[in-house]
Amino acid sequence: MRSCSTCRSQEEEHRFLEPDEADWLKKELDTNNVDTFMVCLAWVGGGAKQCRNLRTYWQEKPFRKPLRLPEPE
Ligand SMILES: [Zn+2]
Repeated sequence: MRSCSTCRSQEEEHRFLEPDEADWLKKELDTNNVDTFMVCLAWVGGGAKQCRNLRTYWQEKPFRKPLRLPEPE
């Protein structure tokens, strides 16, 4: 569960979503169950920001197009 489809890496750290992130994703996907989603923590752009690409625990590409969490405020 460490691979990321947009980083093209097999070893990126992922974590489960924080409550505010889960709320955003529930609206985005129009579902109440986002418990299996994880966000990629890899640093991209020379360390300027994090990847934040979403996957599920068991599926590297749950969407037809990659979906990223919005940047934190
Ligand atoms: Zn990534």
